[in-house]
Amino acid sequence: MKFSIVHRGDSQSESITEQFYKLATKYRLIEDNHSPNLIISIGGDGTMLEAFHSNQHRLQEVAFLGIHTGHLGFYADWQPDQLETIISLIATQSMKTIEYPLLKIKIQTNDQKDYEYLALNEFTVKNLEKTLVMKIKINHEDFEMFRGDGLCISTPSGSTGYNKSLGGALIHPSLESIQVSEMASINNRVYRTIGSPLVLPKHHHIDLYPQYQGEIRFTLDHLSMQMKNVYSIQGFVADEKIRFARYRPFPFWSRVREAFIGNEHMD
Ligand code: NAP
Repeated sequence: MKFSIVHRGDSQSESITEQFYKLATKYRLIEDNHSPNLIISIGGDGTMLEAFHSNQHRLQEVAFLGIHTGHLGFYADWQPDQLETIISLIATQSMKTIEYPLLKIKIQTNDQKDYEYLALNEFTVKNLEKTLVMKIKINHEDFEMFRGDGLCISTPSGSTGYNKSLGGALIHPSLESIQVSEMASINNRVYRTIGSPLVLPKHHHIDLYPQYQGEIRFTLDHLSMQMKNVYSIQGFVADEKIRFARYRPFPFWSRVREAFIGNEHMD
């Protein structure tokens, strides 16, 4: 098993990283930053997003494992005091993995340039200067003319991130789908949007046509960028998937409960 570490850079994550290296030597694990099989993310969910983006060209060859050094993470299963347990499991057990769906975004500009991106959490589009107006088609059929602050297109595992703050549903990552949620849409007698989050299955796609040639702001997970002259933005479930190493069960709904409800007694 060849591993590589991505950490958040704070003192706690650095100290856990040092401890990881010492235990890895004891258990004869090999560090390989060029062609690892296992990427260890030490930090929070943001660290896992970084680990994903820097390894997205090798998704078929790697699995990811998260050790969280802050509050409980959605992508980080293990706590620092479980370091020796997890390292001995990595060294002695064959690795089981689970796969989560990803979002593919294709952007075409008016001068025929094409860009493709993968997101683990979500893609958002916002207008920097004024109300964002976009014609929306689903599977090539006209759907609506959106007016508002922006739109968020999320993966199932990203549904607990930005999407949740926008009133989107939490989607189990076994459902290969994407979710489109609105940011402050304008709804009155003149303008109308659907107003509800939409969940699209695999093989469906949504196309957004901004009615504005100025600069539009995008975010892709923790990354942000701006682009002019955007003709269309297409979102759909990617063929690629991310694999997470699972050395014990940690059900999605347990994570949701721990993160958002806490361990309060129900009686
Ligand atoms: P950030 O400040 O690094 O992250 C914002 C918070 O979102 C952090 O607490 C992060 O956890 C948490 N987070 C990340 N992925 C999550 C997931 N799948 N489920 C639940 N919580 C998650 O923000 P950033 O670097 O700009 O963007 C990173 C992510 O943060 C985005 O992909 C987006 O999902 C989320 N975000 C949410 C809002 C919002 O809710 N209004 C706004 C911006 C971004 P850690 O502390 O463990 O890293």
